[in-house]
Amino acid sequence: MSSPAQPTQPYLAPEAMAATPLALRQSVAEAARTMHAWGCTPATSSNFSAREMGSAHFAISVSGLHKSKLTAEDFLEVDFQGTILNPEQAHLRPSAETLLHALVYQQFPETQTVLHSHSVNCTVLSKLYEADGGVWLKQFELLKAFEGITTHDIALWLPIFPNSQDMPALAQTVRTALPECLPVYGFLLAGHGLYTWGASPAQALRHAEAFEFLFESILKLRSHGYADYS
Ligand SMILES: [Zn+2]
Repeated sequence: MSSPAQPTQPYLAPEAMAATPLALRQSVAEAARTMHAWGCTPATSSNFSAREMGSAHFAISVSGLHKSKLTAEDFLEVDFQGTILNPEQAHLRPSAETLLHALVYQQFPETQTVLHSHSVNCTVLSKLYEADGGVWLKQFELLKAFEGITTHDIALWLPIFPNSQDMPALAQTVRTALPECLPVYGFLLAGHGLYTWGASPAQALRHAEAFEFLFESILKLRSHGYADYS
């Protein structure tokens, strides 16, 4: 296999660079509540994180909380190995999927927010295309919601990985594959959910909303027998 491409992404949000850790967590908590209202975070599932630009650690939502009530207080500071950094938080439990957030921050240094959700549409779509290893998103006007994309006349690959409870192994699989998929704005875990990210909480939320729109569109096109999504 050729050496991984340098992971460059056509997005950057300079206005977000000066955000304080508290402001970032507040914005990410608000994004989580918004995604709950969309029906993307059922039954306490899903997790959300924020990182200050350039930091080697990040804040991730505490496991098991209902996302309709998530606040800036409900985050744990962890390093890229998932170790809790604040001894006062040692009794709390970070998400089991912390390593998947970490790999995104490590691979895409401009990332300040990672959003992970479990909508019905992303779950169904991920099962339908799991055997293909991903799905092409193409010829949709809403592709322009992804930072740096300026035309509908493009095909973006959304990779799909088999689900696993072995997070170190799963993280390694995703870490190896993502540089081959550039530009990439997210990935699916089959039968599980969506990861997407951005250089600010607002940008990440826009990407999540675009993905959800595209998932529903593709599922509807399939139900009508549309050839590209048969
Ligand atoms: Zn999950």
